[in-house]
Amino acid sequence: MLSASQKKYCNSLTEYSRRITNQVKIGDLYLGSDYPIRVQSMTTIDTMDTIGSVEQTIRMIESGCELVRITAPSVKEAQNLENIKNELRKRGYNTPLVADIHFTPNAAELAARIVEKVRINPGNYADKKRFEVIDYTEESYQVELERIRERFLPLVKICKEYGTAMRIGTNHGSLSDRILSRYGDTPLGMVESALEFLRICEDENYFNIVISMKSSNPQVMVQAYRLLVQRLEEEKLKPYPLHLGVTEAGEGEDGRIKSSMGIGTLLEDGLGDTVRVSLTEDPEFEAPVARSLITKSADFRAKADADKFIQRSEVSPINPYSYSRRETFEVGNFGALNVPRVIADYSKIDVEAHDDLKPIGHFYLPLPDKWRMNDLGADYIYSGKKTVPFMLPNGLKEIIDYEVWQAQSDLQNKLPLFTVEEFFNPAKQLHQTINFVEVGLDDLTPAFVEHIKSYKNAVIIAKAKNAAAMVELRSFYFQILKFSIKNPVILSKDYEAISESDFQLFAATDFGGVLIEGFGDGIMVGLPNLENKEEKLERLKTVNSTSFGILQAARTRMSKTEYISCPSCGRTLFDLQETTAMIRKRTDHLKGVKIGIMGCIVNGPGEMADADYGYVGIGKDKIALYRGQTVMKKSVHADNAVDELIELIKEDGRWFEQEVLEYAE
Ligand code: SF4
Repeated sequence: MLSASQKKYCNSLTEYSRRITNQVKIGDLYLGSDYPIRVQSMTTIDTMDTIGSVEQTIRMIESGCELVRITAPSVKEAQNLENIKNELRKRGYNTPLVADIHFTPNAAELAARIVEKVRINPGNYADKKRFEVIDYTEESYQVELERIRERFLPLVKICKEYGTAMRIGTNHGSLSDRILSRYGDTPLGMVESALEFLRICEDENYFNIVISMKSSNPQVMVQAYRLLVQRLEEEKLKPYPLHLGVTEAGEGEDGRIKSSMGIGTLLEDGLGDTVRVSLTEDPEFEAPVARSLITKSADFRAKADADKFIQRSEVSPINPYSYSRRETFEVGNFGALNVPRVIADYSKIDVEAHDDLKPIGHFYLPLPDKWRMNDLGADYIYSGKKTVPFMLPNGLKEIIDYEVWQAQSDLQNKLPLFTVEEFFNPAKQLHQTINFVEVGLDDLTPAFVEHIKSYKNAVIIAKAKNAAAMVELRSFYFQILKFSIKNPVILSKDYEAISESDFQLFAATDFGGVLIEGFGDGIMVGLPNLENKEEKLERLKTVNSTSFGILQAARTRMSKTEYISCPSCGRTLFDLQETTAMIRKRTDHLKGVKIGIMGCIVNGPGEMADADYGYVGIGKDKIALYRGQTVMKKSVHADNAVDELIELIKEDGRWFEQEVLEYAE
């Protein structure tokens, strides 16, 4: 059981209050709580291509990057950073550069004399990965720490002498065998991995440091950053600024959802001083996503501050460093051990024809006269004050407003949604198995709490009304825990007519922030007021896939193949975007299978974290294929690599042919 001080990781869980940090100087740029949250990214071009790197850096700066990171896999690339830097300065760009280092202290020591900041990975700076579990005694562990000190000290001294900043950047997927042996593959292991290096820096009075705790799993990433803050405080180390990022987030919608779930959640808690969104897309697409998340956190939180129903809270009632789903009883297929459900809101759309259900993954095939469903088939539809004029596919249930439901002849096949007032009415009629009640934070009065608790067939729809929906839903969660309510809870919010990409970012933070804490038995997103039906159906399609994407990123419901693809960098040995698209095309029907697509052998296998299969570049046109962490095919020509990957999946009995839904979009 954690004490209140052990649970505290931010100033406030409900008001916007940025964590006070040290200020770090990176060239002419300052980073820390006295300054705006900085946006950064990383080049993808070969570091030896000086002009290519310069031009890509300029495109990134123009898209909003305030720091640019460039990989330096060996001394040769570290040396070429000088040419890149000189050319940039000649062209009038003074943006600080960061050298990205893995495994090569000699490259780090050179780069630290040239660029303004060096990033090291504590998992591989002084250790080679052998995937061994070693049983350390206290004494042998100390010997290891001494070995690290010797290896790391020269870099610290150079950084001090040259005024170079450093990021100690832990990655969940590349923890050293030493850390894994002692702490396991856990947020605590990630934190300790950084602290081992940080203590050496502090002993040397070197404080120009930023720390990161990245993972491709937003749940783990959020827990690790929180724990880091708490441990810094507990050990009386300095409050170093935080660099936020979700690694190998992937591309498109999935990448944006994962990034905003991890980064957005922490930003809303006032944590984070610089942000890097990593997408498997050109790096100039990353900065605008980072900027949107930064703006949202401060702007929306200000609105929460003024909401009198949001109970001020500094310490979480749950353990904020580990996942445990809130305990509920089961109502129909909601709550208990059921996966969270997706409810599609049709209350603003006139459902007239079968095709109107296509955006939510249900397809009518007239010839066999059958319904088919894809992996993103919604579980329920809410039709408001009207009813759907045809028979719904099996398994898709309709929810309607209570006043309309009451007037139906068949009360069993449709489900009622009550207002709080209607639910209090002693003369109300109830559905035998499931009744929905829409509840706002202001409705959680003692009388309502007592009333709802006695209904074992009621599901609460927690409706967020504040722009800072994550805070409101979190406050709702805390109240539900306080009153020991065990009814399942659906998370709900209506969004304004914001752009689709902002919607994806905001919804992923709003819902994801509480889902990763174990709260939420479903999602229901209301549509904005749009002009015409086509626009509404189009938006509904985005809402539906975003809802499933959020549940998947929060690891609460796997409905599609998971791709853990690296953002690519100067080490990448193939066209990552093209290859990811090709692998996706052949495998995206394999629900729940996790495939890592990594540009290089140096970091790839480590960074794939918990992928089931790995596709890793090892040389020009040469690919290694992995099952978990074990290499199964050492060197396959790129032309056959996807077929060979599929063979591997087939050997494991996890392959099935893709069904073609002719009517599917
Ligand atoms: S895994 Fe990808 S991003 Fe990471 S170092 Fe290798 S190529 Fe670069």
